Amino acid sequence: MSPSPRRLLVVSTAVGTLGSGRGGGVEVTLAGLVAGLSGRGHSLTVLAAEGSRLPPGCEGATLWSRPGVDQPSWQHQPRQGPVQLPAGSLLAALWETALDHQGEFDAILNLGYDWLPFWLTPHLATPLFHLVSMGSVATVMDEVITSVDRWNPGRLAFHSAAQAGDFSLGGPAKVVGNGFDLASYVFRPHSDPEAGLGWAGRIAPEKGLEDAVAVAAQLGRRLSVWGLRADPAYALAVEASVPAGTIDWRGFLPSERLQAELGRCTVLLNTPKWNEAYGNVVVEAMACGVPVVAYRRGGPAELVQPELTGLLVPPDDRQAMAEAVLMAEQLDRHHCRRWVERHCSREAFAARIDAWLSEGL
Ligand code: UDP
Repeated sequence: MSPSPRRLLVVSTAVGTLGSGRGGGVEVTLAGLVAGLSGRGHSLTVLAAEGSRLPPGCEGATLWSRPGVDQPSWQHQPRQGPVQLPAGSLLAALWETALDHQGEFDAILNLGYDWLPFWLTPHLATPLFHLVSMGSVATVMDEVITSVDRWNPGRLAFHSAAQAGDFSLGGPAKVVGNGFDLASYVFRPHSDPEAGLGWAGRIAPEKGLEDAVAVAAQLGRRLSVWGLRADPAYALAVEASVPAGTIDWRGFLPSERLQAELGRCTVLLNTPKWNEAYGNVVVEAMACGVPVVAYRRGGPAELVQPELTGLLVPPDDRQAMAEAVLMAEQLDRHHCRRWVERHCSREAFAARIDAWLSEGL
């Protein structure tokens, strides 16, 4: 329990409804954060797109929703691109509600990677905090994030040190990791040899699926792929790059079904082409006992413990990844689960978030 229960408003992403998968890792972060902070005695209200559903474990929270048109995702904009707001903007609707009701809360926590809430920070009466969900993808976002840091660094937290390193911060960053409902990830001490290798994530170029399929093809293994086809043309190009039958497209599954299938894999491949802020799927695989072979890039490089829970290889080196898969298949899967239990539970995450908010308030 927290020594000082607070009324907290959590503002979700303006990309997709909760439950759709379009918000990517933010949905998992929100679930861990809301369930974890509720469990510590805080009163939580979630503000999200109309049609959202609160994730399992978050039943104690109140859901407010607003209709509106999604934001374009920043990671698919040109680096020098301007801030955009579509007509009938969901982002504007969410922040209008947050501003109208700010007096009912002790703090507001923003999970969206958007210019508007960062810019608003010094202008709100109620303290506004931001859990930054991506690394640097656009100059105008870098500017607004660093301006919040200059005004009050206590208002920013990051998922990993690698992610925070993308921004020119004035001092050490607050790194809070992420939190998962580990009870819902079933540990499997043995893989299912039929299942082959796994890969999970949004199917979009920054996730580097083409490298994972090339490694699977080189090893003559099947690669199960879970995730939302965010970029269908890219998915087709990846499929065409390897022999037919290499990829087993599993679609986007709700979290509980994903983990049931994920645990059967021998190894998860993680091949980001960008500075991945954290890498939820890395933790989720390890929670099921699946070792991970990842590029030494971004958050995954802080999550995989080499030769214990998986292996790290030089970024974009497919040959090194293929060799590492054979070694990772020999690792004791118990180590993966134990490491995640120690570092990535919802309880541990919520305690870190609570400490950050308390310092800031
Ligand atoms: N995910 C899911 N079902 C799927 C594939 C992925 O629920 O079929 C979830 C996955 O569990 C993970 C999230 O989507 O929590 C992706 O988060 P990650 O941090 O890996 O990447 P992001 O999309 O945020 O860049």
